[in-house]
Amino acid sequence: MVKSSNIGYPRIGENREWKKALEQYWAGKLEQKTFLKEMETIRLTHLKKQQEKGIDFIPVGDFSFYDHMLDTAAMFGLVPKRFDYKGGEVSLDQYFSIARGSKKAVASEMTKWFNTNYHYIVPEFDGLTPTLVDNRPLRFYQEAKEKLGIQGKPVVIGPITFVKLAKGYEENKWQEVVQQLVPLYAQILQELSLAGAEWVQIEEPILATTIGAEELVLCQTVYQTLKEAAPSLKINVQTYFESIDQYQQVVSLPVDGIGLDFVYDEGANLTSLKKYGFPQEKVLFAGVVDGRNIWRNDLQRTLVLLDEILDVVTKENLVIQASCSLLHVPVTAANEKQLEPVVGEAIAFADEKLTELTLLAKGAAEGKEAISFEIQESTNALTSLQKSSYRNNQDVQYNINHLQTFAAERQAAFPERMAIQESVFQLPILPTTTIGSFPQTQEVRKQRLKWRKGELSQEAYEQYIEQETKKWISIQEELELDVLVHGEFERTDMVEYFGEKLAGFQFTKFAWVQSYGSRCVKPPIIFGDVAFQNPMTVKETVYAKQLTSKPVKGMLTGPITILNWSFVRNDIKRSEVANQIALALRKEVEELVNNGINMIQVDEPAIREGLPLKQQKRETYLQNAVYAFKLATAFVENDTQIHTHMCYADFEDIIDSIEALDVDVISIEMSRSHGELLTSFEENSYDKGIGLGVYDIHSPRIPALEEITRNIDRALQVLEPKLFWINPDCGLKTRGEYETIEALKVMVEAAKETRKKL
Ligand code: GLN
Ligand code: ZN
Repeated sequence: MVKSSNIGYPRIGENREWKKALEQYWAGKLEQKTFLKEMETIRLTHLKKQQEKGIDFIPVGDFSFYDHMLDTAAMFGLVPKRFDYKGGEVSLDQYFSIARGSKKAVASEMTKWFNTNYHYIVPEFDGLTPTLVDNRPLRFYQEAKEKLGIQGKPVVIGPITFVKLAKGYEENKWQEVVQQLVPLYAQILQELSLAGAEWVQIEEPILATTIGAEELVLCQTVYQTLKEAAPSLKINVQTYFESIDQYQQVVSLPVDGIGLDFVYDEGANLTSLKKYGFPQEKVLFAGVVDGRNIWRNDLQRTLVLLDEILDVVTKENLVIQASCSLLHVPVTAANEKQLEPVVGEAIAFADEKLTELTLLAKGAAEGKEAISFEIQESTNALTSLQKSSYRNNQDVQYNINHLQTFAAERQAAFPERMAIQESVFQLPILPTTTIGSFPQTQEVRKQRLKWRKGELSQEAYEQYIEQETKKWISIQEELELDVLVHGEFERTDMVEYFGEKLAGFQFTKFAWVQSYGSRCVKPPIIFGDVAFQNPMTVKETVYAKQLTSKPVKGMLTGPITILNWSFVRNDIKRSEVANQIALALRKEVEELVNNGINMIQVDEPAIREGLPLKQQKRETYLQNAVYAFKLATAFVENDTQIHTHMCYADFEDIIDSIEALDVDVISIEMSRSHGELLTSFEENSYDKGIGLGVYDIHSPRIPALEEITRNIDRALQVLEPKLFWINPDCGLKTRGEYETIEALKVMVEAAKETRKKL
């Protein structure tokens, strides 16, 4: 018998009922009691579903009202002082205040969970002493047992990962912080053991990043203590998202099971497994189904992988899992009827993946004949997609094989280009501009919805968009901005808009994934060869341009952002998909230039997001990213000005790559970290056009003149005025019209004042 297991299940529900309940509760439309009851129903439904699918190890405690890191912090009473917490169990409202802020206190910081698009709430230690105020895993273990008779597998984030991802302690004291938590974890395990739990899943994804010897040494002693605290409770130390560099040390941790990812590691864990073996007495929780992409499993191939694993571990000691929690994929593919049939057949979301897990467990136990029908089905589906014309676009493939024939370097170096562009555009010093979008008001959305439903004709919709564009061109002229934009009124979303116009994309109806809190995203699927079909932005941009004598920036989303915000086909390398997108965008750039648009912004807010967890893989990723960006943009003549925009990120370790993009102007969000960002650019003596956002667009507040002037002055202390641009932090689509205009007035005023001082 080979068992199946699940690491975690999506919280949001098939129809996002979780999101809806949360938002109603926050809006005061749902009483706490009703809210809790609804959440319980969702939670139990999910457990039942996993049981019906035949999963042997069903996770409990992975469910959350917001985020699992926040849950862990709350369990230890780690409530930042500003929330007036008096000890004891953290109340629901306190819990949500930490995540979302309250009238009196700002929310805790939120940041990306490893290299996924899920964001967690960063725990703050700041002088707090952790105490166990709620044995959360126990609570959920008992609930599943009492209400459904399910012997669940409690899950919890491990102490090393928890502390490493938290903040508010001196970096060199992190080991002491871990030691503070160890007795609390020990108590959790003891109570679980007493209650009859058999296994616990302790998640330590930090072990799959580049970690030092120190972490591993501490890991040994921590898990030794935990094991001794509850000897009869079996511990699985679960890793995911990558392979383990220090394989031998990790598999010899004094615990009962080790969870390894065999999908996202480029074969490294399997190689280690074969080379060093696996401790005989331990259970291997093998992640063999992709937990974060939406493709159907190639059962035949996975059985081969499992065979190799079974050369090292016995069937009794093998448990089959997805590579990570299914939190990162949508709930069910059953409702996506509108997809191209070859795509519809080739996808698997959380529920379908659970079925795959039990099938694979059966196949591994009884031999492939036991699931031969299902193997055939999966092979057929994947082969049909592979053979379809969508994946065999001859032109695209020819171009990809002849990339060296596409210029991907600017003709002249920046100083020479700058001189040429100065004479073309004739801009004042410290030119003012915006990042692209203007307010997407209720009305704009309403019109688009009507058009989508067929209640508004194509013509009428286009007319409406033109009217908005016209209105905002004249607003921008009145504001005396120097470089104008068309406003992006035709776009819902910066990736979807392009995906809908390019070949190779599909859009789902219900495939939502939690991004942070109740916020869900519905990433497009890149399933085929990506190709340019028709101009995507020319009409709107040219329309705007003929309304004014000022330069109008064309506005595109870059290849890496499109890639990182989509579910991507896995039959070819991601870098190749990026190059396909780049070649398609290159055509769009060409079209824009041919139509007289010679200032073009190609947004890349998601470059940093795709950075691999392992240090040794970063260089290649960044090189590929830079290449794809330049493939799309760098072929233009010297008199065409290429801009890019990036939202806030930690730029320090990627600044060389930003420089290598060789754009004429970059605009970057600044408000959240003025000082740090400036230092990175100063230390690297960045020497091309640069616009550091001079006011925060996330708040409706209208900035004061002194505030903006101060931001400009600070930047000009380290950056050359000749290279400096003045712009807001990011696009303005989420802002209201009034506040947008007022804030921009102040910004332009600040630019004028500063110019006088120069
Ligand atoms: N051009 C986009 C906009 O203005 C950029 C958005 C972003 O950086 N996320 O909305
Ligand atoms: Zn931005």
